[in-house]
Order: sequence, then C-alpha cells, then structure tokens
Amino acid sequence: MKDTLKHRGMRNKLADILSKKGIADLNVLNAIKTIPRHLFMDSSFEGHAYQDKAFPIAADQTISQPYTVAFQTELLQVKSNQKILEIGTGSGYQTAVLLHLKAKVYTIERQLELFKKTSLFFQKMGYRPKKAIFGDGYKGMPKEAPFDGIIVTAGAPEVPKPLMAQLKIGGKLVIPVGVNDQIMTLFVRKSEKEFEKKEFGSFRFVPLLENKN
Ligand code: SAH
Repeated sequence: MKDTLKHRGMRNKLADILSKKGIADLNVLNAIKTIPRHLFMDSSFEGHAYQDKAFPIAADQTISQPYTVAFQTELLQVKSNQKILEIGTGSGYQTAVLLHLKAKVYTIERQLELFKKTSLFFQKMGYRPKKAIFGDGYKGMPKEAPFDGIIVTAGAPEVPKPLMAQLKIGGKLVIPVGVNDQIMTLFVRKSEKEFEKKEFGSFRFVPLLENKN
C-alpha cells in the first residue's frame, strides 16, 4: 500500500469531522492530517481507514477510533521532548500521533504477535519510539519513570497504582476507567500524594488485561 493524494484528501476530511466533534488542538488535528492511518491497518480495510471508527487489527485487538485518539491526546497536552508512556501499542497509530507531537515515546504491548508486527512496522516507516517493549502495562516502565504523561489505550477496570507512582509532579495520566464501557479520566499529579481527578465522556475500549504469570 502507498500513501497518495487521495488518502491525504480523506485525512483532511477526517480532521474536519474531528474538529466539528470538538477537537480544538491544532497540533492534534495536524497529526491526523499527516499520519497515514490506512498503513496501520490490514489492507482489506484500506477503503475505510479514514472513517471515524475503530477497526480490528491482529490478536483480537482494535485500532482506536480517531476521535478517541484525538480526545486522549488533547487531554495529555503533549509538549516537545516530554516523556510519554503509552500502555497498549496495538497498531502503533497512537504512538505515531505522540511522535508527531515530538514526544519521547515509551510504549508497552502485551500481545506478542502485535508487539512483533508493530515493531517491524515502526522500523519500516521510520517511526522511532524511545522504547517499544513487550510486557505488562499494569506495571508501567519503572526504569524510565517519571513521565510527563501516561496514556492508557485499553479499558482499565481500575487505575493501576504503579502508573500513578510513575508520574512527575504536574504530570498527567489519561485513562479510560470501567469494565463494559469506560469513563475517560484525567489525573494530574499535584504533589507527591495529591492527584486532581477529572472525568469526561463515556468510551468503549478493548480491556486492559493483567498478566497473571
Ligand atoms: N493504541 C492502540 C490501541 C490498541 S487497543 C492503537 O492506536 O492501535 C489496546 C491495546 O492494549 C491492545 O493492543 C491490547 O493488546 C493492549 N493491552 C491490553 N492490556 C495490556 C497491558 N496490560 N499491557 C500492555 N498492553 C495491553
């Protein structure tokens, strides 16, 4: 598959749709206009890649809906050179959005098949997260902590404590919390012990699964 003018046109339309749905951050909209989402998906979905919908990827997982990606990214308020941890690499699309915003990205995926596939894809495309690892995102990445931002891209039945602990003071955790559907939740670390919590709309994600081994 290639990236063509036609794809670019479809991306511009998608960015317009997201802007009408309330996404205001121009850097985020610009990422949507730039990143070739169709290349992150199976070729059979190429014709649908610029609809505002989630689609299946490998290992029974999904590439998140563009609106969801944009909404979560907007909440993070990423600035150049910030250290951002992503839980749930999946297709790598959200990773690419964070890289477009010039973040230093650390990302974790617990499905081996997806981890391998997406790591190869990153190499092929020249996307360079600081670290992309196979592991359990519940634990975060203690060796690289603290982070300016942490984004969880799977539905978390509860907020993993290690993720709270790995935030800088002033850092933000964006996490969809819930079992069947999830409330998008933003935590801002105010001090060692205090977190401010804000809740946003309801979303639906594949579950964040804990490794039992
Ligand atoms: N950011 C991805 C979203 C993929 S869906 C994208 O844009 O495509 C969520 C992903 O989270 C899935 O790939 C799933 O395997 C992964 N996941 C679920 N539980 C996890 C965990 N405990 N640690 C790391 N990844 C996890």
